[in-house]
Amino acid sequence: MTAANLTIPRNQPRRRGACPGVLAPMEVGDGFLLRVRVPAGALPAANARRIAELGARHGNGLIDLSHRGNLQLRGLSADSLAPVTDALRAMGYVAADAASEAVRNVLCDPSAGLGAGALMDVRAVALALDARLAGDAALHRLPPKFGWLVCGGGSAHLAASDTDVRFDAVDGARLRVSLGGTLATAAAVGLCRAEDAADVASALGRAFLDLRATVPEPPRRMAGLVAALGADAIAAPLSPLLSPLPPGERVRVRGTHLMDHFGFAEPPHPDRLPGGEKGTRTAFLTVAFPFGRLTCAALSALSDVAREIRLTPWRALLLVDPAPSAAALAGRLGAILTAADRRLRLTACSGVTGCDVGTTDTHATALAVAERAGPLLDRVRMVHVSGCAKGCAHPGVADVTLTAHDGRYDVALRAKPGAAPWRANLSPDDALSCVVGLSVEELSGV
Ligand code: SF4
Repeated sequence: MTAANLTIPRNQPRRRGACPGVLAPMEVGDGFLLRVRVPAGALPAANARRIAELGARHGNGLIDLSHRGNLQLRGLSADSLAPVTDALRAMGYVAADAASEAVRNVLCDPSAGLGAGALMDVRAVALALDARLAGDAALHRLPPKFGWLVCGGGSAHLAASDTDVRFDAVDGARLRVSLGGTLATAAAVGLCRAEDAADVASALGRAFLDLRATVPEPPRRMAGLVAALGADAIAAPLSPLLSPLPPGERVRVRGTHLMDHFGFAEPPHPDRLPGGEKGTRTAFLTVAFPFGRLTCAALSALSDVAREIRLTPWRALLLVDPAPSAAALAGRLGAILTAADRRLRLTACSGVTGCDVGTTDTHATALAVAERAGPLLDRVRMVHVSGCAKGCAHPGVADVTLTAHDGRYDVALRAKPGAAPWRANLSPDDALSCVVGLSVEELSGV
């Protein structure tokens, strides 16, 4: 059925506004969800094991890895919130209050301090930034999704991550400060010393809050403010802290990859290169999980074969100093270990099993696509199975997007969730057959 003009009753996507935290648990379809923000994304194995125990005892035994490099415990009861919060506080993962927790959206280069090739070990910068955001009450008015990034140029670098304010190392002492985008697209405003990064962040946060109020429709993200006022206006108060970016300044991202900020080929994410840092000694092993979902039992087992676990924004973990048995164990636990694994091309939200808005088992549908539509997955970058039009797992365009409503799917091509469907109102089986049968011409739109 071609359905450009069909009127279909849809579930109303829920706009919750605030992001979840430990002090701001979010009630979803399978109970309360707690997002744990781990400073610099570095989780000692003992803490990973303890968090896994908490999730197994008090939750439903499932953990999600978020696109923001956080762990999310799922399925907690109201009674379990207090003991879990106390335990996480004892590990140092709980801020003073919900407002100071909500702004701690700092992404740190997951390979910081691991192996050769990085320009700077940026963990100290990330920790200082995290602490400043939590402690500076003036910054607690920043919008919930406002994010920060610190990248030292290691092999698991963050060049392609899109955020509001980014600090990218240009050598062992200085960071390039840029606003609203990826390394390639963010507007550079200058260089700062590593020890000044928290002060720069504080000034930029204040400038954003002050200046957005002067715009008729105040933007909620830095890219919007840059578009409205220009980067120079936002960075003007920072002049004592910034030095100019030399013309033609180049930013080394890894090894022999020299990239300047005027357009470069996007490097593959580490989750496209599972297996870890290549070299004489393996500093870490990258293990990805379909849809970023793993069990507490899996996290506990992985914590037995690594010294530390690093969180990434790619729904993958870096196992630091892995035991020789780590890869085999991770494989038995369902982890993705090779770049050829077709599950890397799939994304899906929780759907009916974890969200009260969902009406289909999105993970089951996506895994069925992986099993039955292999040739299709070899030709596309992403197939997205979304539980509703909100598109939590990937709000952007995918090659093929299935959007659920009332237990059925609409299928759209080269579109966002909820876009006008190419085929509409299909049962999960029919939607799967539709995707499996897609021709090259249909996929490419010719
Ligand atoms: S996209 Fe998925 S997780 Fe998000 S609200 Fe819809 S059903 Fe829930």
